[in-house]
Amino acid sequence: MTNFSDLNLNPKILTAIEEAGYKTPTPIQAGAIPAAIDGKDVLGIAQTGTGKTASFTLPMIHMLARGRARARMPRSLVLCPTRELAAQVAENFDTYSKNLKLTKALLIGGVSFKEQDQLIDKGVDVLIATPGRLLDHFERGKLLLTGVQIMVVDEADRMLDMGFIPDIERIFNLTPFTRQTLFFSATMAPEIERITNTFLSNPTRIEVARQATASENIEQGVVMFKASRRDREGTEKRKILRALIQGEGDKCTNAIVFCNRKVDVDICAKSLNKYGVQAAPIHGDLDQSQRTQTLDEFRAGKLRVLVASDVAARGLDVPSVSHVFNFDVPSHAEDYVHRIGRTGRAGRDGKTVMICAPRDEKNFEAIEALIQKEIPRIENPVQQDAAEFEEKDTKPKRTRGRKPHQPASADAEDSKASSKASTRASDALDAKTPDTKKPDTKKPEREERTERAERNERSEPNRGNGRSNKSHDRNTVVGMGDHMPSFIALSFDERRAS
Ligand code: AMP
Repeated sequence: MTNFSDLNLNPKILTAIEEAGYKTPTPIQAGAIPAAIDGKDVLGIAQTGTGKTASFTLPMIHMLARGRARARMPRSLVLCPTRELAAQVAENFDTYSKNLKLTKALLIGGVSFKEQDQLIDKGVDVLIATPGRLLDHFERGKLLLTGVQIMVVDEADRMLDMGFIPDIERIFNLTPFTRQTLFFSATMAPEIERITNTFLSNPTRIEVARQATASENIEQGVVMFKASRRDREGTEKRKILRALIQGEGDKCTNAIVFCNRKVDVDICAKSLNKYGVQAAPIHGDLDQSQRTQTLDEFRAGKLRVLVASDVAARGLDVPSVSHVFNFDVPSHAEDYVHRIGRTGRAGRDGKTVMICAPRDEKNFEAIEALIQKEIPRIENPVQQDAAEFEEKDTKPKRTRGRKPHQPASADAEDSKASSKASTRASDALDAKTPDTKKPDTKKPEREERTERAERNERSEPNRGNGRSNKSHDRNTVVGMGDHMPSFIALSFDERRAS
C-alpha cells in the first residue's frame, strides 16, 4: 500500500495532510500525484468522493512551492463548473498549503470584480475560477494567462452538460502550449475524449471506478407512487417525503433532498419547514451570499435538510450526509449516481430513497440499466392516506368556496402553495414568496447563458412558453365566484363518466 510519504511531496504538505487526518492516499491520489510531480499530463477518470481534489491540489502546491507569482500572471489555473465547487477547491488549497506562503484568487460570479482584480494585480500562485468569470476578467484586460504552467480542468463532464466546452477550449488556447494539464472527469463522453486528445499530451490515465457505479455502502430504495389526482401529485409527494424523513428518525442526522426543478426546491423547503423539519433551499436563482450561508450552515450541522437542484449541489463535499432523498427521478441517469454519491462518503454508510411517479418510469428504468442493479421497492409510507385521498376524490369538490386565510388543513395550504407556484413563472414566485431569496439580477451575461443551457438540460419549465401549466390551468376556474356548479370542478374524464 502506498503512503503519503512515498509520494515525494514537500514535507510541509505532508504535515498539513497529517493534520487533516488522512492516513493513506486514495487510489486516484496514489496514481495522479507521482505522475503530476513528474511533470506529466494527467487524465483522471474519477467521481467526487474519491479524493480527486487532493489528487491535483497536492502536486500543484508541491510544484508552486518553488518560484514566485508575477502581477496579473497567475502561475496555475483550476477551472470548475460551479461556484460552489470552485469555493470547495479553494478551501482544499488553503488546508493543504497552510504551511507554505502561496497566494490564490477565487474568480466566481456573485463576488465583486474589484476585489478579485486587486488580488490578480498583486500576482497569484493559483487562480481558481468558473470559465465564464475567468473569461470576463480576461476580456476586461485584467488578466494574462501566458504565465500558466499548470492548468486543471475539474468535472469536465459537468462542464459539457453546462455548455462550457467552447469556453474551455478558448481558455486552453490562451495558455502556453508548454503548460502541464491535469484533467478530471467522472465519465468520458465523446466530446470529452476529443478535448483530451486535442489538449493533453500523452497523459497518464488513471481510472478509479467503473463509469457511473454507485458506491456499495449506500442502501438504496424507491417508492413507486401514483398520485390520487394529477393536481395532487406535488402535495402527496411532499407528504411521502416527510414520512420518509420522519420514518428514519434519529438515523437521519442530515439529508439532501434533490428536486428536478428550482420551483420545487423552493416549495419543498418551505413545506418541510412548515411541518417542523428544518430545511433550506439551494439553487441557481438564489444569490451567492445566500447559497454560501446555507451551505456553511449545512456543513456545520446547523441545518438538517438541504433541498437542492442538481447544478447547485454538483460536486458538493459534505463528508457526513446520512441520507439523500430524490423527490424526483432525475432525467439523466448519471445524475442519480452523482446525487446519491453525496451520502456514503469516505467509507461511511449512507441511505437513499427516491420517489418515482408513473411518468418517471422510463427515466427510472434508465437508472437501473446504468447502475446494473435493481433498486429495492419500498412501501409507500403514506399508502393509507393515499387511499383516503382516492375515496374523497370520487366526490365532486368545490374548489373556490374557502376564504383565503382559512385552510382546512395544513395540507390544503400546502396544495395551494403548490398550484400557485406551479401556475406562475418561477420568477414571480421568487418575487412574492417571503422566505424565498431574490434572484441575483446582476449576473453576468455568460452566467445567464449557462443557466439557460442548464434549464434546457434539466427540462425546467421554460418561462412563458405557455406549455408547462396546462394541467393546473384545467383545474382552476376563473370568474365563477363562490357559486360554481359542482360539475365544473370535475376533470374531463370524470365528466364523461358521470
Ligand atoms: P473529493 O473527492 O476531492 O471531493 O474528496 C472527498 C472527501 O475525501 C473530502 O472530504 C476529502 O477531505 C476526503 N479525503 C481526500 N483525500 C483523503 C484521504 N487520503 N484520506 C481520507 N480522506 C480523504
